[in-house]
Amino acid sequence: MLDQAAINQLRDTPVSDRGHFINGQFVTAQDGKTLDVLSPIDGKVFTRVASGSVDDVEQAVAAARIAFEDGRWSAAAPAERKKVLLKLAELIEREALALAVLGVRDNGTEINMAFKAEALSAAGTFRYYAEALDKVYGEIAPTAKNVLGLVHKAPVGVVGAIVPWNFPLMIGAWKLAPALAMGNSVVLKPAESASLSLLRIAELASEAGLPDGVLNVVTGPGAVVGEALALSMEVDILVFTGSGATGRRLLEYSARSNLKRCYLELGGKSPNIVFNDAADLAKAAKVSAAGIFRNSGQVCVAGSRLLVQEDIHDDFVAALCKEAEALKVGDPLDLSSQIGAVHSLPQLEAHLRFVATAESEGAERRTGGTRILEETGGYYMAPTVMTRVKPTDSIAQTEVFGPVLAVTSFKDEEDAIRIANSTDYGLAAGVWTADLGRAHRMIKAVRSGVIHVNTYGGADMTVPLGGMKQSGNGHDKSLHALGKYVDLKTAWIQL
Ligand code: ADP
Repeated sequence: MLDQAAINQLRDTPVSDRGHFINGQFVTAQDGKTLDVLSPIDGKVFTRVASGSVDDVEQAVAAARIAFEDGRWSAAAPAERKKVLLKLAELIEREALALAVLGVRDNGTEINMAFKAEALSAAGTFRYYAEALDKVYGEIAPTAKNVLGLVHKAPVGVVGAIVPWNFPLMIGAWKLAPALAMGNSVVLKPAESASLSLLRIAELASEAGLPDGVLNVVTGPGAVVGEALALSMEVDILVFTGSGATGRRLLEYSARSNLKRCYLELGGKSPNIVFNDAADLAKAAKVSAAGIFRNSGQVCVAGSRLLVQEDIHDDFVAALCKEAEALKVGDPLDLSSQIGAVHSLPQLEAHLRFVATAESEGAERRTGGTRILEETGGYYMAPTVMTRVKPTDSIAQTEVFGPVLAVTSFKDEEDAIRIANSTDYGLAAGVWTADLGRAHRMIKAVRSGVIHVNTYGGADMTVPLGGMKQSGNGHDKSLHALGKYVDLKTAWIQL
């Protein structure tokens, strides 16, 4: 159980200005520039971070390259790497509440969720890959007897990691932990509006014994810092979670520089499909509401399209709206809030525009659709349900990344599959049915990287997460993620 008094104390703790973390220490931007850090809780500036330049990125990449080449981490015994990453997991866990509160002040996620999905999840991720790293073997190929074919798994080199603001610690750890476990060096670029908790992770990594230069963090605008990292000739691979528009740019930067491999996780417009034979429609309504509204819909796998079979449509939508209206939106550092703040004012304004456009295209606003709690100065939006959405409407095709659910009815299984697959995205999906055969048919037919059956969300570290279609490529989580961070190197030996 989290303690409100402890949270209140942490929320008032002043946060001093933060520099980049390069070569084991905090440094100011070379040109002295800073960025204000504004809290979505009340719209007020509470600290500043360094606003990086191309020179800062070059400094960090050089530190990472030197650390990689001299083998201080890349050639360290796996047992040593394991010890350091396990220690880091322990340090994160030890200050999980402080890390979670710091992150919430930055990004607005409700604290119960931030504690588990951010701080504890990051600790779990570092522990998972620490435990895995000395169980990864190379291969001996089945060759003729006068030849020996060996397949080595070598760390790739310098990894550029660009992460978003919605779950900086969770997503940051999904990239950092397997990259470091395999012996790479990393330059991490957090979202400009959610850097603080990741800067602290870098500091804790040093404390855990990670050698200087192996993990560097450069903060600042995506168009400057992210671009410089992606164009760098010294960055060997790029791992990214964010928007499709930025993902496209990264591929261009790669083509214009050194053809670095780019692994992109680019969001979704995930269909959550409710059949009339679902065993527990009340549960389906409750879980579906959480599946879109938790973290104010700022979740890449959010079930943002609800497809409901036509004969249960009206009753189901009524139950879902009731669930949506019962959710308590408010101060994310108040333990009684179930939904926190929208991350920024431009985000909130974009959500409201999506709602207006949907209405102009013929959708009906059943609940929400408005900014609330404006008197706090923060950015809050009522959970919003839009019905009569046509599969071709912009709200059915474009990721809102906010607390807005688009509802469409369908006739039968074939119709559901057709609508489910009718967007450019393919990240996540959900199916509610008591028919086992139908569940398996849907698993095969719906094009998404993850499909939930009779639940929505919650897939843990043991399974991969990655997109199909324009939701991206490559996978985070599970042992599959390790493949991104190694090069396969063949040795062909004549005996
Ligand atoms: P979101 O809509 O989730 O903010 P973005 O793709 O804009 O998605 O941001 C995700 C990450 O990509 C952030 O760290 C951001 O700073 C970074 N970013 C944004 N623009 C660029 C760019 N042109 N080049 C590299 N990184 C970028």
